[in-house]
Amino acid sequence: MYRLTYLYFLLFPITLFSQELARIDPPFWWTGFKNPEVQLMVYGKNIAETRVSVDYPGLAINKISKVANPNYLFIDLTLEAATKPGIATILFRTKENKVAAKYAYELKARKKGSAARKSFTSSDVIYLLMPDRFANGDPTNDNVEGSAEPVDRMNPDGRHGGDIKGIADHLDYIRELGVTTIWINPLLLNNQSKYSYHGYSIGDYYKTDPRFGTNEDYVKLADASHQRGMKLVMDMVLNHCGSGHWWMNDLPSPDWINQWPEFTRTNYRAGTSTDPYASAADSSQFVGGWFDNTMPDLNQHNPFLKNYLIENTIWWIEYAGLDGIRQDTHPYSFKEMTAEWGKRIAVEYPAFNMVGECWMGFPASVAYWQKDALNRDHYNSWLPSVFDFPLYDALNKAFNEPESWNTGILRIYDVLSQDFSYPNPGNIVVFADNHDVSRYLDSQNNDVRKLKMAMALILTTRGIPEIYYGTEILMTSGDHQGDGNKRRDFPGGWPGDERNAFTAQGRTDQQNDMYGYLHTLLEWRKTKEVIHTGKFLHFIPSGGIYTYFRYNASEAVMVVMNNNEETKTVETKRFSEILKKYKTGIDVVTGSGVKDLSSLVIPGKTAMIIELR
Ligand code: CA
Repeated sequence: MYRLTYLYFLLFPITLFSQELARIDPPFWWTGFKNPEVQLMVYGKNIAETRVSVDYPGLAINKISKVANPNYLFIDLTLEAATKPGIATILFRTKENKVAAKYAYELKARKKGSAARKSFTSSDVIYLLMPDRFANGDPTNDNVEGSAEPVDRMNPDGRHGGDIKGIADHLDYIRELGVTTIWINPLLLNNQSKYSYHGYSIGDYYKTDPRFGTNEDYVKLADASHQRGMKLVMDMVLNHCGSGHWWMNDLPSPDWINQWPEFTRTNYRAGTSTDPYASAADSSQFVGGWFDNTMPDLNQHNPFLKNYLIENTIWWIEYAGLDGIRQDTHPYSFKEMTAEWGKRIAVEYPAFNMVGECWMGFPASVAYWQKDALNRDHYNSWLPSVFDFPLYDALNKAFNEPESWNTGILRIYDVLSQDFSYPNPGNIVVFADNHDVSRYLDSQNNDVRKLKMAMALILTTRGIPEIYYGTEILMTSGDHQGDGNKRRDFPGGWPGDERNAFTAQGRTDQQNDMYGYLHTLLEWRKTKEVIHTGKFLHFIPSGGIYTYFRYNASEAVMVVMNNNEETKTVETKRFSEILKKYKTGIDVVTGSGVKDLSSLVIPGKTAMIIELR
């Protein structure tokens, strides 16, 4: 099952190695990185008993480290600046000086422009999809040999068979919707006996789950996305692996994972990582407890594991030509490690964007995790972007509750008014829902007007919008709110599906209306620099009406949200400090002209977006 491509055996191979387990990670590397070091993890039976040598111009073994388990060896290699791409042979010799194994280690040339790659920015809109649930392009890979869980589409928490081919087949659908970036939930091997379709129980950090496809398929998907002008964001998990990970049967050292006298779950209280009053007991349980009994907590204080994870990220960026990373459960890892992770990635890719899941309810708590935050403890995360969970919370309540001094649409105003906490509010990912929470329609009593208001907000406020797959076709969880139902199959993604919602003919009128609404806004947003980088100005909500502006030297956009059930006429004199420069406008959603800006008629539960002239 494992990578044997370059591994072959000469003398006495069987006595020394178990072929099934032998591997070197990372399996290859590149010349031309700023950091001249790479640390290889070698795994094979009693490998620590061998002597290692390498003979390649410009490549030297700097250090060899043994750990508690003799089946592991860590080799620090140093590449000179002038080292040329090619195949370096690494020899492993027995005490008797016989060659026990050799590994052809490839040093590839970096692609031109790799270091200077542009990443996802506020000019992009992210489409989040769950690969097991989007489209099944290859039913022959639904069940593969060695996979612990067979496909079962009737089980909401089971494997449904979606794959990389299914995504590739629908790249044009995604592009035509108007989004520019795809975030796919993890595609790496998850070999659990149940409940791992979501991908967060990683079983091999270097191997795509064969039920999704191969590493090569993933690279092809990245290339095909790039050919269509779209970017690809990889979902990564540094905090934990799956209990089905290959190394769980033979850990390099007992401290590879955080071990407790008895099973100890994290308390999920991410606030303990910033709380000045947090007890040591709570803090250590948060960061060192297991995410689940099937998700062992990785100990990133172990220097070999730390390097392993950092190099793995760089490997995937370089190998697949990634445009960004979404980092799962970001504060759950030891934060010194994630800071080093971010810094070492920034050294190789200065403009690379990474967004961390820092799931907390207050802007100040989330802002702590954004790179260059002025934290009192001087912690710098080196994490460029964070998700706007406080705005997500506000969006869930704002359109559902009665207007008052401190409820209703004021919640959105309140959250945005705390942007002073963030070092870079323009680089925050804004969203109404994702794979972990109720679909927005479910949280809004199926009221499409509220969904449109939420989409209007995330597509015109500061930051980088993220839209969860199926939003465009009004997907809901149905009667059950379990995680499996938040991640339903996209209709038309499976052979034999009754309807194909990837086409206009396969969608209902209501679905086409929502699709059209999003499509219009997404296409419009693509070229609107004023939305990407313009300044933000808002006015205190009054009578359930919230008004804000995006503007720069040459353009301005006005957004008026009416959170009342009934139509309201909005007198705009109060906004004259910005509005006085403009006479007319265009309603972006309807395309019709707005001849008189002095008073505006806004239907109930509607956002009006006006491009000012
Ligand atoms: Ca499949």
